[in-house]
Amino acid sequence: MQLNRSRKSRRQKHNTIRVGSFISEYPVVLSIAGSDNSGGAGIQADIKTCQVYGTFCTTAITAITAQNSKGLRMADYVGDSMLESQLDSIFECFSPDAVKIGMVPSASAVEIISRILRQHNARNIVIDTVLSATAGGCFNRDGTVKAMTTLLFPMATLITPNLPELHILSGKSDLNPADAATRMIKFSEVRNVLIKGGHSEGDTCNDLLVMKDGRILEFNRKRINSPDTHGTGCTLSSAIACGLALGMTLECAIEKAKTFITDAIARGHRFRVTELYGPVHQSDLRRKR
Ligand code: PLP
Repeated sequence: MQLNRSRKSRRQKHNTIRVGSFISEYPVVLSIAGSDNSGGAGIQADIKTCQVYGTFCTTAITAITAQNSKGLRMADYVGDSMLESQLDSIFECFSPDAVKIGMVPSASAVEIISRILRQHNARNIVIDTVLSATAGGCFNRDGTVKAMTTLLFPMATLITPNLPELHILSGKSDLNPADAATRMIKFSEVRNVLIKGGHSEGDTCNDLLVMKDGRILEFNRKRINSPDTHGTGCTLSSAIACGLALGMTLECAIEKAKTFITDAIARGHRFRVTELYGPVHQSDLRRKR
């Protein structure tokens, strides 16, 4: 009882947004990710996704990239103290209902993120295991993957690797995807793995949810053949985080996010904003655009 009351008052204190005399309560999402100046992926994709879902997006930027659809020009990592200060400033005044983690550049960044999330009992943590830029170029320094596996994965509700990332993370390219994910669940203590089917072939894009309790669920949608898929992984993972922040079950959050990303890919192809490999277009499912 005591616990319930203090949780409620904590939530009221932290997640109440006051604008003039109007008081509103939003679910708050924290996105820990890199900035993509071309607007398609990273923090930019997460903010747009949160906005469409009706959640409030706070951020901790891990790196700044200079890129466009022709390639990655530069990636500068923000220093450890800057990352720590951003996270501290969020947890001082907010109590995020879900956390999305994207690009993490170094083992020391992993250590800071895991320590602060643990200190604040962060919940509903969704990790998009970003290892490289869509436009080409590696994002992580040596040792990052090992640190993520040992420090961050055990805290996560879900990780969302694509097939190449699953092979790197599980260290097994000869196993079928479900067996590779089951192996990861055993050795890294991650609870749930959503294997994205974007890199596979066929008329449908099938994502596979492998869970700690042994269940395996499939989420299938018609495949949209489009070069405009920049930001797909970021958008899907932040949409799942939004669903969890809104109180959905994991299965329900993935189901809704899968519809959301399929629609965002279709719209990205219809309303192109740049040449070559353009971004997906996050928008309200009820709106035409
Ligand atoms: N985060 C940043 C900062 C990026 O620039 C990218 C891709 O370029 C990603 C994440 C991953 O993007 P995607 O969602 O297309 O996998």
